Amino acid sequence: MGSELLDKAFNALLNYPLCDRCLGRLFAKHGLELSNAERGRALKTLIAMSVHKVLSSGEEVDSGSLLRLAINGGGPIADVVRRYLGEVDVRKCFICGGNLDSIISELVVKALEALAGREFKSLLVGVEKGSSYEAREGEVTASLNIDSWESIRREVKREVGKRLQLLTGSVPKFRNPDVLLVLNLDTLEVRASSAQLFLRGRYVKVGRFISQRWWYLRDGVYRYRASVEGVAERVAPLFKCRDVLIHAAGREDVDARMLGDGRPLVIEIVNPFRREVDIEAINNLLRDEWVRVVVHSTASVEELHELKRSRNPKIYRVVIYVPEGLTEEDLKGVEAGLEGVEVLQRTPRRILRRKKDVLRERRVLQARGKRLSEHLAELVIKCEGGLYVKELVTGDEGRTYPSVNSLLGREVKVLFLDVLEFCGQHLTPEEEG
Ligand SMILES: [Zn+2]
Repeated sequence: MGSELLDKAFNALLNYPLCDRCLGRLFAKHGLELSNAERGRALKTLIAMSVHKVLSSGEEVDSGSLLRLAINGGGPIADVVRRYLGEVDVRKCFICGGNLDSIISELVVKALEALAGREFKSLLVGVEKGSSYEAREGEVTASLNIDSWESIRREVKREVGKRLQLLTGSVPKFRNPDVLLVLNLDTLEVRASSAQLFLRGRYVKVGRFISQRWWYLRDGVYRYRASVEGVAERVAPLFKCRDVLIHAAGREDVDARMLGDGRPLVIEIVNPFRREVDIEAINNLLRDEWVRVVVHSTASVEELHELKRSRNPKIYRVVIYVPEGLTEEDLKGVEAGLEGVEVLQRTPRRILRRKKDVLRERRVLQARGKRLSEHLAELVIKCEGGLYVKELVTGDEGRTYPSVNSLLGREVKVLFLDVLEFCGQHLTPEEEG
């Protein structure tokens, strides 16, 4: 029993100098509740005992092999061999150079530095792949045909993680930890990143020429003076973070207002040092004259994906200008020609540079018109998400059909466009009560 294990350990030390930890790690699958150092030391002790037995028996021995074993194994083996065969100059561990303890200690110190100032309850430690330690470990396990080993990455992860938990009072968490630490064994660098926070809310744009994201011109200046993103960024100091991103359920044109209860939005707080979410403090910072962002709660990644997939209907108000004029009957014809109709729409020419040319089908659910003057009318259109309403009016040179243009048979221009309502299952805070 166990002689196979001992033979393998014997063979390992004949070929490579290994410290207790690195020897023990080769046999990590054997034994319970043991550290790798304890495992390695136990194997070396057993080997030392059998070496002692041979040497003390007075029989002829292969002193070359025993010396090699002592030089590579050190510790109790070297103690025995030194007594019988003379001086033994113990070599440094082939895999870790005998530095694994100090490496772990140094990584713990660096990790604490990287964690300084961060709020977290849970953390996960990872070790970058591809270190020189791993390469040497791979050489040893492959040449000795060992299949019971644990990687040095795993041992360092576990040991550093255990000490950090003790020192910081945090708990380990494999899924969505508050902080992820990535260690590099060769450079001893530690990178920390805090998990993003997602805040769910809505935004209303009461002004025009406000972009959703910052819109940069070629020389790096903003094309528009305000953006929804710009307002959302104001919460950065609250979370002690550098970057704030926004994700919205679609986007209206820059010159369109977004009214009603607003458009659903998720604000992503990237790498926040502070994680406490105080909704009231957030909303105080978000207060703005032209862009009203209100946060209701935190959100999960799943909710973010759901938001991005949402294809909710919207209600638009569009003021049109017809140079040749239009009558009440004309408007009735437009209402009848749009309501309940499946519109065929190719990607609008104005965005062809950014988006692929595809043909989409979207239904107009309701259409109501009101004549304002001989040349002006207001249309209120409820349609499925993803329909470009400006092109539904102008026809975009036939790329959208039917259109107000095709129904009237004359040129129609869009003067103003507003999104009156983002219809959907997203409740307002009052309704959530
Ligand atoms: Zn070692």
